[in-house]
Amino acid sequence: MMSQYLTMRRSLPDDVLLLFSLGDFYEMFFEDAQRAAEILNCALTKRHETPMCGFPHHAAEGYIAKLIKAGKRVALGEQTSIPQAGKLVEREITQIISAGTVSDLNLLDDNKHNYIASCYIIKEQYGLACADHTTGEFTLAEFNSLDALKDELNRLSPTELIIADDQVDELSSLAQALPYDAFAYIPDQARHTLLEHFKVQSLIGFGCEEMTAACSAAGATLHYLSYQMRRSCDHLRKISVRNTTEHVLIDTSSQRNLDLVESRSGRKHTLLGALDRTSTPMGARKLRDWILHPLCDLEPLTQRQDLIACFLDQPFLLAKCRDALKGIRDIERTSSRLSQNHGNARDLQALTCSLEKIPELKEDLKAVIHAAPNQLADQLAEKIHTFPELTELMNRALADEPPSTLKDGGMIRDGYLAELDELRNASRDGKKWIASLQESERKRTGIDSLKIKYNNVFGYFLEVTKANAGKVPDDYQRKQTMANAERFITPELKEMEGKILGADERSRQLEFDAFVDLRLQVCEHIDELQETANGLATLDVLLGLSETAQLYQHTRPVLDESFQLKITEGRHPVLEQTLVEEKFVPNCTNIDPKSSQLILLTGPNMAGKSTYIRQVALITLMAQIGAYVPAESAHIGLVDRIFCRVGASDDLALGQSTFMVEMNETSLIINNATEKSLVILDEIGRGTATFDGLSIAWSVAEHLHDDIKARTLFATHYHELTDLARTRPAVANYNVAVREWNDDIIFLRKIVEGTADKSYGIQVARLAGLPSSIIDRAKDILSHLEGNAVKPETNNKTKAKSSPKRTMPKANPAQLDMFD
Ligand code: ADP
Ligand code: MG
Repeated sequence: MMSQYLTMRRSLPDDVLLLFSLGDFYEMFFEDAQRAAEILNCALTKRHETPMCGFPHHAAEGYIAKLIKAGKRVALGEQTSIPQAGKLVEREITQIISAGTVSDLNLLDDNKHNYIASCYIIKEQYGLACADHTTGEFTLAEFNSLDALKDELNRLSPTELIIADDQVDELSSLAQALPYDAFAYIPDQARHTLLEHFKVQSLIGFGCEEMTAACSAAGATLHYLSYQMRRSCDHLRKISVRNTTEHVLIDTSSQRNLDLVESRSGRKHTLLGALDRTSTPMGARKLRDWILHPLCDLEPLTQRQDLIACFLDQPFLLAKCRDALKGIRDIERTSSRLSQNHGNARDLQALTCSLEKIPELKEDLKAVIHAAPNQLADQLAEKIHTFPELTELMNRALADEPPSTLKDGGMIRDGYLAELDELRNASRDGKKWIASLQESERKRTGIDSLKIKYNNVFGYFLEVTKANAGKVPDDYQRKQTMANAERFITPELKEMEGKILGADERSRQLEFDAFVDLRLQVCEHIDELQETANGLATLDVLLGLSETAQLYQHTRPVLDESFQLKITEGRHPVLEQTLVEEKFVPNCTNIDPKSSQLILLTGPNMAGKSTYIRQVALITLMAQIGAYVPAESAHIGLVDRIFCRVGASDDLALGQSTFMVEMNETSLIINNATEKSLVILDEIGRGTATFDGLSIAWSVAEHLHDDIKARTLFATHYHELTDLARTRPAVANYNVAVREWNDDIIFLRKIVEGTADKSYGIQVARLAGLPSSIIDRAKDILSHLEGNAVKPETNNKTKAKSSPKRTMPKANPAQLDMFD
């Protein structure tokens, strides 16, 4: 057995842990055992000096989950022959499980894709393939720089990434990439893999015939999944090109700075959190994808807007469709699991329940189309199939509450299979016969406590207490002696037992066969199921966006190819939902290529600069996923990229200084922004000495205005910068209004034209709770620095104490009236 183990172990990559099936346990040996014992925090035992560690089959799911979460891959070495005395059981590696290939629902996040990605470089082309084995999605894309590839990887955030083992150096900056056999990536080989898999002559139909680098990555992904991980990939039915020019590009740091899908303060504070009112996991995954990949094309955006308009016009249908969707579960992942011979009767049942909701939903969709003809709705209605035969079959076949196991029976409903019904009757009759036997034997023997029992070792037997042993008749055969009882069998009992067990075993087999057959029926429909899931996801996202628009009075933005960006009374889409203490103050924006292409925004800390410029970016982004926006009205000339740069955030993990990070990101903008881009700069140049920083901020602003001509919002504490407006026609100065009240400062949150008169740093410092002695001293120094006649006095504590401590009046609207 050990030599069988070692052969198997040698066939696996070093990092994979081999779970060797031994009786009812999975065992690991040698180094695998040592590594796993540490992760699982379980006992490491030794037999003949061989370290080993293991866990029972029935608990395997939890243990495997732990190993995967710790970043391991595990191989299952299963027994493939029936154990026979004196003979070595045959074993085979049935599959390898990794983070990117799990199908266990407990390990998956409903609202997130579980991607396995692969990259390959040919000359200047950076190919990327990305598969979600849990849903069957399979896409590829090509980029012309490593940075662009990395940005897309960051958007997709795959749980597993493989690269060719001969490109490890070129791709060394991709964190946690796993090297895989370079042979699988050779363009001819990879292409062959794809052609074989899709059973096609060329890749023209998928639109990727010319994308050699990406196809190599895609072929290698399939190779990895099927050969190394031993997965069925039958449900990967097509490969689609992710056209990178179709999307508004949002680089990794901009994505982070805008808190699109993740934020340090939790999901609630992200754009995704604010917009997600989807009802199904498929919709939630799709919305996430939309937010990270907004569109540049007017046509599909208009279609999405039209459909939202339609739902808003008919709130009754909106509510009805959303209701119908609520009962629909993860059709995509469930059907994928089933098509890979995973899953159980409960999955079939869940799938059936979901499919049954579709006809009603389609009726509602038809009503929508009837009320306002809509191309997108037409397409969706076409994509979303109903499955009358399949649901009828499942309802007829499946029991009401099927078990999660496959081999114990109970999955199939009475009346579905005549033979099964007969066997069940036989078994039932047999059990009745046995129950009556207990009665008649009690009478015959006069032992009232005589019982007929059953266990897995002896089957049925008669049990008599020791005290009654004398009364046992001659035809009883003794089988076992217990402490207080004797156990017997009789030939007629054994004969009936044979019948019952035979019937039970046969019916379990019949049920299993019937289940496999039903599962096969699902596989036959996999194309339509995937298409349906996709259509439902889109519908779900649009219904959710409509709901959000209705709840928060979002309006339909006017979109065109102009360079305008005009927002009336815009709000921050996330803050307007999460702000509790204050009411959100709306603000207007007018970016016009002639007069205000670059807006310089000044104002004290905490005034609301960062919020405002992000709000403009988020509204633009929302508009370009087709959503309505939080504003009274908006006119948005479509953008090709959105950049959002925030000054002074240390990336210590990467070992770069604040300033270096800042400059890297700034140069990314300068090198990539176009006239169609939207650039948000928040306090750049802060990470270095004042004059350095100011000079850099100044020249960056000039360049954005003069050469790139990108629409730019620039929040800065460098007041000097506002001089730019004197020499540059399309620079406009704005500031966030504040009011002074005695020594305090009140934030009005209103963006007004002009420059801030001063920075109010000292007032803000007071708000933050700095002691008044320090505040007063700072004021002295400030007036000195500003060249006022008064020299700073030597720090004098007694004077400081005399200054009364004031508290800041709360800025509520009623109070503000006082100042107007
Ligand atoms: P700055 O960048 O000028 O220092 P922020 O944009 O970070 O200021 O805003 C500080 C806080 O003010 C935010 O956390 C938010 O709670 C609040 N705030 C900003 N803008 C508004 C607004 N328009 N309405 C209400 N509260 C706002
Ligand atoms: Mg700020």
